[in-house]
Amino acid sequence: MSEVMPCPHCGGEMSVTADLWGQVVVCPHCQKELTIPAPEARPSTTAGPLWFLPKKVPSYLVEAILVTIFCFQPFGIVAIVYAAQVDGKLASGDYAGARYVSERAKNWCLAAFLCGFLWLPIAFFVLFGHH
Ligand SMILES: [Zn+2]
Repeated sequence: MSEVMPCPHCGGEMSVTADLWGQVVVCPHCQKELTIPAPEARPSTTAGPLWFLPKKVPSYLVEAILVTIFCFQPFGIVAIVYAAQVDGKLASGDYAGARYVSERAKNWCLAAFLCGFLWLPIAFFVLFGHH
């Protein structure tokens, strides 16, 4: 079984096999020596992707409030509802849940932001254009 890893010197990709783990090899791209990291020197795969996730989960609460005020209220309010749950879920140790509502808050912020630009002139026209 081989895997592809980047060279720490030049970033060029090379495929390494299990028998090279822990060995010093010469990069085929830049001819410099490097050590192939052994699996035990890397984060365990059983620990899952949580290992490299940032500890802080952005709540996007400020963004949600801003887009609610300035852009598209219905979507902004949904964003606030999600954003308001992030810290609570983090506090209760529900990291995956916090990531989920954080992503939702971000997406609704984006949606509200875009809709603010796309629909506000149309909504304005519909509401006030007939007078
Ligand atoms: Zn290299």
